[in-house]
Amino acid sequence: LAQLFRPLDLLGMVYRTIRQGLIDMEAMYRLIDTRAEIADKPGAVDLHVEGGEVRFQDVRFGYDPEREILHGVSFTVPAGRTLAIVGPSGAGKSTIARILFRFYDIQAGRVTIDGQDVASVTQQSLRAAIGIVPQDMVLFNDTIGYNIGYGREGATQAQIEAAARAASIHDFIMTLPQDYDTRVGERGLKLSGGEKQRVAIARTLLKNPPVLILDEATSALDSRTETEIQTVLRDISRRRTTIVVAHRLSTVVDADEIIVLEQGYVVERGRHADLVRADGLYATMWARQAAERDDMAMEPAIPDPV
Ligand code: ATP
Repeated sequence: LAQLFRPLDLLGMVYRTIRQGLIDMEAMYRLIDTRAEIADKPGAVDLHVEGGEVRFQDVRFGYDPEREILHGVSFTVPAGRTLAIVGPSGAGKSTIARILFRFYDIQAGRVTIDGQDVASVTQQSLRAAIGIVPQDMVLFNDTIGYNIGYGREGATQAQIEAAARAASIHDFIMTLPQDYDTRVGERGLKLSGGEKQRVAIARTLLKNPPVLILDEATSALDSRTETEIQTVLRDISRRRTTIVVAHRLSTVVDADEIIVLEQGYVVERGRHADLVRADGLYATMWARQAAERDDMAMEPAIPDPV
């Protein structure tokens, strides 16, 4: 019977993934293997990662060639460093992540990891090198242990538990009726946004990729969960090249470099303090978010109008 349901699971998941803007690209890839037009070049070799330097050189891309979305984007993330991408909705932030994963081929420019063009290495080796913590993970209709262990083929229960501990989800799992064997997903236990994110982190820890893409959640988590998740994320990004697609600027303050994307152009770049001082788009976004945070902090103090 399980065999019978798998294709239905797959269709449902593909549909939901597309609806969510392809944010769980990794799950998508494993399920539908790959988009037909993205194929390994003849003679493609495996990507060989040393430090994991990521470089975009004058990248131009449009989903539809008639409508260019990225108009010559360049940046370098040195091995082990963190780049944050910020900018208004629709600026092209997630598109950059999709291109690094080679979900699409670019129209001009070059995207390399340690000097190797992502278009000329095998997709299998490219995907093995990049871990993604999506903003809203799609869970398989399977056990929570399976959902974590999927990060590494042949992972042992001990490895799964170690990853769950590191992602601060082990204690929660132990409270479930059948701990690691509890079924989750559409037909099982529904997990909260924060719990799903921690499962995604545990899965990524097991995979242990040299390059990490963090697609920060747009939806607010409660502040304790958020702080916990931030701590774990900071930990796992410490030794890896990390690209954070950031929606809340408070999380990018420590990034080695921030690029501000607006309508597919990099309009500003630098560290947080430089960008605040530059008094441009970043400074405006920062001031607006700071005001919102202050408003939220003030709320209980303001009496309801009668
Ligand atoms: P947000 O902060 O809202 O997530 P973003 O900066 O990540 O936005 P992208 O998702 O990269 O923006 O989208 C950039 C542009 O590309 C948008 O105009 C969007 O409509 C378009 N776009 C995104 N995905 C596709 C797609 N699969 N097909 C066609 N156009 C797309």
